[in-house]
Amino acid sequence: MKTFQAQLPHRIELWKSLERIKEAGYETWYAEMIEHYSCPECHTLNSAYDLACRRCGSSPSCAYVRLHKDEIAPHITKMT
Ligand SMILES: [Zn+2]
Repeated sequence: MKTFQAQLPHRIELWKSLERIKEAGYETWYAEMIEHYSCPECHTLNSAYDLACRRCGSSPSCAYVRLHKDEIAPHITKMT
């Protein structure tokens, strides 16, 4: 499980998410995740791999990317 978690950057928060679901419930956590991945400018939902917003180009695309940019960037380079 630890290896699985470390493989891809969108799993960085896996442990934290599991804790949060336990504590706040799935629906609260899910609403928070939508917020966490949404563009602060236009509220478009982005993925962990969109460094800039897919709609308005605002960078970082969301709070998740802002927090984990350094961990995400090498994976994006590898994919392109
Ligand atoms: Zn945007």
